[in-house]
Amino acid sequence: MALTRPARALSRLVLLFVSASSDRPLVPEWLAVPEDANALAPLVWPASASRDAHGELSLGAVPVSTLRAQFGTPLYVIDEDAVRARAREVKAAFDAATARHGIAARVYYASKALLTTEIVRWVTQEGLAVDVATGGELAVALAAGADPGRIGLHGNNKSVAELERAVDLGVGSIVIDSLIELERLAAIAERRGRSCDTAQSVLIRVNTGVHAETHDFLATAHEDQKFGFALADAEGVAARVREIPSLRLVGIHCHIGSQIFGTAGFAESAARLVELYARLREGGDLPVLNLGGGFGIAYTSVDDPTPIEALADGIVEAVARECSVRGIPLPNLAFEPGRTVVGRAGVTLYEVGTVKPVVVSDDLTRLYVSVDGGMSDNARPALYGAQYSARVASRTSDADAALVRVVGRHCESGDIVVDAEYLPGDVAPGDLLAVPATGAYCFSLASNYNYVPRPPVVAVSAGRARLIVRGETIDDLLARDLGVAADDSREDHT
Ligand SMILES: *Cc1c(COP(=O)(O)O)cnc(C)c1O
Repeated sequence: MALTRPARALSRLVLLFVSASSDRPLVPEWLAVPEDANALAPLVWPASASRDAHGELSLGAVPVSTLRAQFGTPLYVIDEDAVRARAREVKAAFDAATARHGIAARVYYASKALLTTEIVRWVTQEGLAVDVATGGELAVALAAGADPGRIGLHGNNKSVAELERAVDLGVGSIVIDSLIELERLAAIAERRGRSCDTAQSVLIRVNTGVHAETHDFLATAHEDQKFGFALADAEGVAARVREIPSLRLVGIHCHIGSQIFGTAGFAESAARLVELYARLREGGDLPVLNLGGGFGIAYTSVDDPTPIEALADGIVEAVARECSVRGIPLPNLAFEPGRTVVGRAGVTLYEVGTVKPVVVSDDLTRLYVSVDGGMSDNARPALYGAQYSARVASRTSDADAALVRVVGRHCESGDIVVDAEYLPGDVAPGDLLAVPATGAYCFSLASNYNYVPRPPVVAVSAGRARLIVRGETIDDLLARDLGVAADDSREDHT
């Protein structure tokens, strides 16, 4: 549309006004000026995060200056004890809640949240099973030594090769997402002579219509999204699975979303699933209801996630209530927490490169703090408008708190790490900046945008730092480009 110059100016003015007044307030309502812009909010940081007498932050009893000197920045730091403790806590919560009703829980770690072989070792040693959604995730879980019988495979478009590999490995359960996949898997399992005792265990993914993010519980359960079967179609799918000798239907599965607070959405979804379970068990044994993951964590000091014990109790109680109304026994339950296991255990360290005051209105200046990473190591703010917090990690400061936006180094104005935060106003180039609650969906969603190498992952515990994934080098980035000259005359970019 060709606008005249005054019209363009006017539309820009209108846009500016709209964005300032409603869409994106200059200071979000939830963000208060802190009493102490150095304080580490409880729940947001791993329990081991503390400041020493000089104000320097340490994680797992390793000072951030040591981490910077050894590994550089940006750096993903994972507190091993925090992951292990949280895995135990989550498992204990679901074990206790189900044991009260005489049933068992299986807790799968949803590996897409953060997947490295070390992470798999930690969570499996703490008693969790593992969920994967692709051949790549499966390969990492196997490389870590995970028992294939305790791996679940998901996904709405698993390839034939992925399904074949899963069946050959003896993957414990495969979640069927479509009729085409059902027939594909049946053929694969049949070709491998699987039947009766060796039949491949499968679950059917259903869409309960509960939209937990928006707290909209759709009455129809016909959700306009790609995963699973509508509740109304699940009976027919189950009947079909039960006709196939190479497959064994062990349960139904749902996953209502992510970063959910409160039990209402889970309880409503569970109720709908139990109604289906009641009908399906008339056609044969159906030992498992898998209720997925989605348990929320605190990203900022105002987030107040429901304790996992309360969530576990609330969900199991909802299932028990629905079963009791129908006079049917409770099935065993399975859960797939991802974020809540690893989210709080991760902190990303950056170095501040530039600080630039930007006057955004007559009475408000925002400090733009540019760090040496950005949307390539944390895509969530750009993808979801996710909010994070930040602290200067290398020191404390008595300077007055200033409103800042922490931004990355990418060629994109949406390259935001922390949309709004108060930091000491003397934040300066060379300071280390720490962004907490980055354990989940940061490393796993990382990209090479702008050909920025992906950061290393370091595990900290009891004063020790251990590299568990090395950082990418420029040579790694060039390695796949077949047009790069093969000779060695190129300068060393590492
Ligand atoms: C992503 C996902 C999970 C884990 O979700 P979190 O929010 O990380 O707990 C569990 N199950 C399925 C099927 C998923 O897609």
